[in-house]
Amino acid sequence: MTENDLPAPDSDELRQLLTREDLRSLYAFLYERREHPPTMVEIREHAAAENGESHSQTDRRVRELRDWFKLPAVRSGRVHVYRLEGRAETIRDGRAGISPRVRGEVLSAKRCAQCGKTPTEDHVKLEVDHKIPHSWGGTDDIENLQPLCTQCNHDKQAFYSSLDPFEEQIRAATSHKEPHRRIGELLKAFHAVGVDAPSQVIGVVASMHQYQEDWQKRMRELRELGWDYKTIKRKENGRIRSYYRLTAFADWPEGNIAAEIKRRERAKKAN
Ligand SMILES: [Zn+2]
Repeated sequence: MTENDLPAPDSDELRQLLTREDLRSLYAFLYERREHPPTMVEIREHAAAENGESHSQTDRRVRELRDWFKLPAVRSGRVHVYRLEGRAETIRDGRAGISPRVRGEVLSAKRCAQCGKTPTEDHVKLEVDHKIPHSWGGTDDIENLQPLCTQCNHDKQAFYSSLDPFEEQIRAATSHKEPHRRIGELLKAFHAVGVDAPSQVIGVVASMHQYQEDWQKRMRELRELGWDYKTIKRKENGRIRSYYRLTAFADWPEGNIAAEIKRRERAKKAN
């Protein structure tokens, strides 16, 4: 994908592609800064000056823009910069992709999937959330949607923004077909940059391609292959979050991973 493929900020093409002014304004800024891409701090400053946006609004805007354009967070010295590189491989239609019927079905649960609060008893507003974000390859299918209250949705957005610098690694890990491999590669990716892997992210990535009833079991099974990790619990904003820190890993077996784990388990029992 060549850079020339990017539409000019003032072109009709862009106006048709991005119908929202706030997205076009962000695009124009990133387009201008292609040669020296901005950090998130600079993007936020720009958006605050331009339309008085809050940080979390801007973070969401950046993610939304990725439905149309390749915009990876690239390491540059000690910071990450956001480089507009071309068009997204599959142009997704974002929120417009969820039909009113599906939206209604998701919201018919009438309860936040995370905290359990309801509009009638707790007077919260429910929003449709993507369990796996678009930018990680999540779809608009109903299986990937859930109702979240405004507060939980806001917290989730903030949490996912903090993972932006790892997006490339996360995306690479999610591409594997086998759940053990997705989990293992993700742990390795976090380990490589010296960061503990949030269990929330492991759970989401484990369930990509096929839902995992018990992804923690898949993690324990990695130990059969010579992998090991520590579980770390931290209190953040009054909530306990779990993290995993990889302490040992091994090459993947030649054949089917699940079959190899079964074989080793049987061999152990026979001894
Ligand atoms: Zn909630």
